[in-house]
Amino acid sequence: MPLSSPAAQQAIKRQEESLRQQDKKSSGSLMDESDYWKQQPKIEPKLPPELPPTETYAIDKNITGGLIEFFGLQGWYQATFNDEQKHRLEELFGTVSGNKLASGPVRFKFANVDVLQFLYDLEEKLKSQKFSDIYKLVDEQYKIEAGKFCKIDNKRWDNEKYYKSWFSLMKYRIDALNKLKADNYFTDGQFDVVDDNFTTQTCLDINNKGFKILNGDLDRAFDQHFLEPIEGCRCTVRGYRG
Ligand SMILES: [Zn+2]
Repeated sequence: MPLSSPAAQQAIKRQEESLRQQDKKSSGSLMDESDYWKQQPKIEPKLPPELPPTETYAIDKNITGGLIEFFGLQGWYQATFNDEQKHRLEELFGTVSGNKLASGPVRFKFANVDVLQFLYDLEEKLKSQKFSDIYKLVDEQYKIEAGKFCKIDNKRWDNEKYYKSWFSLMKYRIDALNKLKADNYFTDGQFDVVDDNFTTQTCLDINNKGFKILNGDLDRAFDQHFLEPIEGCRCTVRGYRG
């Protein structure tokens, strides 16, 4: 029976009337008509069936040129690779987190994506011999982007393991430091070292040492440790409550 039908309306009225009588009984007759209506639960309009929550992204760019466009690399991409190389590159890349290399929109769940990390990851995919021509071209661009951040030592760039990864981690380190300072939750910060055969003493010396955030100690230690790439450094920053 639809709620708007006369029979339904009457039924509702009857129900309301009996509720009103009960109410009067329970509270004596002190309550007047206007008070009575104020106390009625509001009849909410019926909602449509619940839809599944839409996926939310920290980054959601409705573009057509994929990650290349997202990172502002179209000019370089078009000028650097011939059609055959682009085809090989795009085929190899497939999708990463649902994003294509050079076509379609770009979405990321996290906001701290970085062109250096992107180029570093791309290089890592191109290590096999059959991509050596493309690898070289990507590497040149990675070096240009990294050089905006810090002066590049070409010898170290070509020879030192983890020199390149130092650059790819810098945005994460800076974001982590800024978040620690903005959150106002942790009192201290520390550096965590990846301890393996490539770790050097400078990193081990700072490992697990605590630095106060509020008085600027952590800032100073950060600037000192990340002034320029330390061999084998893959240190990260995190906070704790002292
Ligand atoms: Zn380090």
